[in-house]
Amino acid sequence: MENLPNSSWILSKKKRLAYQIAILSWYDQNKRELPWRVNPTLYKTVISEFMLQQTRVTTALPYFENWMIEFPDFFSLSQASEKKILKAWEGLGYYSRARNLHLLSKIAVQWEAPPLTLDDWKNLPGVGPYIAAAVTSIALGQKQAVCDGNVVRVLTRLFAISESFKDGSTAQKKIRPVAQALISSERPGDYNQAIMELGATICHRSSPLCSICPVLTHCKAGKSGEWTNYPALTPKPKKTATLQRYWIEGDNHILLHASQKKRLAGVFELPEKIPNFIENSSITPNKPLTVRKRTIGNTEYTEEIFRVEIFTIKEETLPSGYAWMKWSEMKSFTLSGPHRKWINEIKKSQKE
Ligand code: SF4
Repeated sequence: MENLPNSSWILSKKKRLAYQIAILSWYDQNKRELPWRVNPTLYKTVISEFMLQQTRVTTALPYFENWMIEFPDFFSLSQASEKKILKAWEGLGYYSRARNLHLLSKIAVQWEAPPLTLDDWKNLPGVGPYIAAAVTSIALGQKQAVCDGNVVRVLTRLFAISESFKDGSTAQKKIRPVAQALISSERPGDYNQAIMELGATICHRSSPLCSICPVLTHCKAGKSGEWTNYPALTPKPKKTATLQRYWIEGDNHILLHASQKKRLAGVFELPEKIPNFIENSSITPNKPLTVRKRTIGNTEYTEEIFRVEIFTIKEETLPSGYAWMKWSEMKSFTLSGPHRKWINEIKKSQKE
């Protein structure tokens, strides 16, 4: 076993077993009742794992419930339109996940039996090492350890691993062999869920609940009280950026543009420039209608929204990517979460 921490118990089968029994017994008694854990299926596991990438459990819950009503299985998902799928995903962000699920469902309906290996899963759309390990272990009983941020936190604390990682994904790559060495052979899926649950509900980033932790007797950092040292991640510098957005409102509609950014591809937002087909426009420089902020990854964006006062439309046919959204159709448009909120707020303030 390479790259394992220099700790006596990880090499002892008996001690590993004691640790597995402790964490699995705790999980059996304390796991949260989550809808994908009720009558679990491969489909439910895939959908929940895609949704939980970059998204908190509490945020994903209503989306998952709604998704299961709209698309209860791979077949119904494979038959659905992309528009309908993106609409069901609206507000969860990172929309490429929804597109990849759509592509994956079209492949899944051709399977006689689902693939079992990590590599086969990693070749599927949108499936990285984490989702491949989660799905193959939870839904298919394979002994493949997951290693996400929660797992890194628990394991670096268990073994007081002080190595400094340049970012989260480097840490996950380096810690995965440790996770793999500890996974239960009998219950790999439950073990993976147990360690992630421990990270989410007990081994918090700040103020972990060591006194009630089921693996305290195995944990170096818990026993020494020095958990703040782990994991050692090099802090990333915060970035800032300012964007201009344009509020181009006609009689009963507003102009939107489908974002080309990978993260938001195809999701509508207020346009970032006044397109060429809008003529005779005027805005008041330095006087935006409103200024809003949102954080994506490490960057805090300031978005200045300017009202376009006078305009004529040069062409009748809209260039690709643009759409006039009638106010009455707002519910059926797929908008990014922040822009839906801001548009509603601006519209409401205009009426007051
Ligand atoms: S004992 Fe404390 S630091 Fe160690 S795994 Fe448990 S909660 Fe985390």
